[in-house]
Amino acid sequence: MPNICLVEDEPKVAAFISKGLEEQGYDVTLANDAASALRNIQTSTFDLLILDVMLPDMNGIELCQKIRVKNNTVPILMLTALDEVQNKVAGLKAGADDYLVKPFHFTELLARLEALLRRQAAIPPENNSLVFEDLKLDLWSSTVERGGKEIMLTAKEFTLLELFMRHPNKVLSREFIAERVWNIDFDTGTNFIDVYVNYLRNKIEKGFKGKLIHTVIGMGYVLKSVNGK
Ligand code: CA
Repeated sequence: MPNICLVEDEPKVAAFISKGLEEQGYDVTLANDAASALRNIQTSTFDLLILDVMLPDMNGIELCQKIRVKNNTVPILMLTALDEVQNKVAGLKAGADDYLVKPFHFTELLARLEALLRRQAAIPPENNSLVFEDLKLDLWSSTVERGGKEIMLTAKEFTLLELFMRHPNKVLSREFIAERVWNIDFDTGTNFIDVYVNYLRNKIEKGFKGKLIHTVIGMGYVLKSVNGK
């Protein structure tokens, strides 16, 4: 059964979640602060992390960043008590895969984490790479190369690139990207899609010959050949 690390300092909430998950057959490791979460992550492999935003020693968003900096691609579900777009966006920018606003029903938590685990498991063991021009994305090892040179991406940048590579030469709208990569409705008041596309561009284009991701003004972005074929 999947192995979950729950990072939550409030004993009542932690007990409610871990008891529920254990009843469903999950293995749950509880960390009641960010420092012990980081220790757990270093010593064990988890299938999923549940991170509370309000932790005693470090903000959950900051913790998420620290985990992603180490190129750890484990699915992360954030719990936030603050129902504000600001926090959701900050969490998603930091590399979380999904978020849930407190208070929530246990069934909703279960549905979200099952979806994340399914997404992770859906990666096929064979025929596992996508190729576009000199860019290669390996779904199994989660690695990206351009011209044979390895490129380090965060989990979200990887998912974003995967989306582009599954739809080459097609203009992807910000709405489509938000829905597919972040599982949320696009809010025209935020620019985080553009921010992320730029992060990705910097990594796959800087130091290489030719642009791959092109802006289509008023429409979105397209992965297109260097020669504009
Ligand atoms: Ca808390």
